Amino acid sequence: MDKQTDFVLRTLEERDVRFVRLWFTDVLGFLKSVAIAPAELEGALSEGIGFDGSAIQGFARVYESDMVAHPDPSTFQLLPWRGNPGGTARMFCDIGLPDGSPSFADPRHVLKRAMRKAADMGFTYYVHPEIEFYLFKQPIIPGEVPTPVDRSGYFDHTTATAGTDFRRSAISMLEQMGISVEFSHHEGGPGQQEIDLRYADALSMADNIMTFRVVVKEVAVMQNLFASFMPKPLADQPGSGMHSHVSLFEGDTNAFYDASGEYNLSTIGRQFVAGLLHHASEISAVLNPWVNSYKRLAGGGEAPNYICWGQNNRSAMVRVPMFKPNKSSSARIELRTVDSAVNPYLAYALILTAGLSGIENEMVLPDPAEDDVWSLTDRQREALGIKPLPNSLDAAVRAMETSQLVADTLGEHVFDFVLRNKRAEYAEYMRQVTPLELGKLLPSL
Ligand code: GLN
Ligand code: MG
Ligand code: MG
Ligand code: MG
Repeated sequence: MDKQTDFVLRTLEERDVRFVRLWFTDVLGFLKSVAIAPAELEGALSEGIGFDGSAIQGFARVYESDMVAHPDPSTFQLLPWRGNPGGTARMFCDIGLPDGSPSFADPRHVLKRAMRKAADMGFTYYVHPEIEFYLFKQPIIPGEVPTPVDRSGYFDHTTATAGTDFRRSAISMLEQMGISVEFSHHEGGPGQQEIDLRYADALSMADNIMTFRVVVKEVAVMQNLFASFMPKPLADQPGSGMHSHVSLFEGDTNAFYDASGEYNLSTIGRQFVAGLLHHASEISAVLNPWVNSYKRLAGGGEAPNYICWGQNNRSAMVRVPMFKPNKSSSARIELRTVDSAVNPYLAYALILTAGLSGIENEMVLPDPAEDDVWSLTDRQREALGIKPLPNSLDAAVRAMETSQLVADTLGEHVFDFVLRNKRAEYAEYMRQVTPLELGKLLPSL
């Protein structure tokens, strides 16, 4: 028995754990969970737990539906809100097929495969997200505009408001689960919060983001609130982004750092950004996966909708944050398109392979956009070579359809599922006749 397995089994006994939840993520990014009795865990660790893959979004066709969840012992954590001792633990799972091979449909596997490609090129891949979300009052009535918990704005400090108490509880719970938080603050919209996680390798971070969503939603419910990661819940307020800071390391050395480079960005860093810009439209349907995502991008509120980069330019899709020259390890780039409702495994896999393709093909980075690209005219942007991102899920799906990079990274099964699912989502949306149309057009047409 390896050390980690031994630790898990011992903790189960010492802490008198009653349930172990086995977690995995479907292709659309929803968390799935099956609880097992602690006595079953030793068997689950050696052989896995079988389940019907055809009942999970994007997993399998009915005629090849048997799948096996293999818990990853390195992800064992007690759930702080379920009591201790006598509580509940969770572990993330890798999904396999009955013959022991990894499941082609498992998003965690998609990210692992992309990270192996990076490893073959000599790189380890780190990310940290700034996660934005809204806190609303209960009850939430489907179809009705929700009510934010407060009227504060960006960085507002208010004494003992719902948001401050909420952030303190959520952060202490995340820390208890081994997820470190670097910053947190009130964001621009009423009731909108941001919590920034400390960097980790991308696989751990994708697991952390899934855990983060559960923790934030649990803490909200405990405080009789509702937390939402929807990209654009309120028409006239900023949306919720998940700006992601990315770096590659070669051993202990940050491959994005070069003291003599412009903005201290190395050639590898520049090529990575060039790859991101080059593939930005193709990967958009995964980085902004919902009809609603495009309302965030189109709606201002500091969400980017043009393909460009800059240093301290918050209208740019990629930003190179300034960092202290004596801290070369913190050299990184910030991708601002990603929203808070992505499947983090698929999104981080595609960000990586888009960047790696820039390195492999030695892509050349265009000049940085130093203007506020939103205030330029279309002609000015055209003259600068700045193209818009897809402006709808439909446009994003069309850009993805022909992408070899996305097909290779997701694998054929996930690629086809995402395309089919997103086409259907857009078609359903187009079948609606909205209150806006009825209000504006019916009276006059
Ligand atoms: N909410 C904005 C977005 O959607 C970001 C605002 C900010 O972090 N300054 O991307
Ligand atoms: Mg921030
Ligand atoms: Mg923010
Ligand atoms: Mg940011």
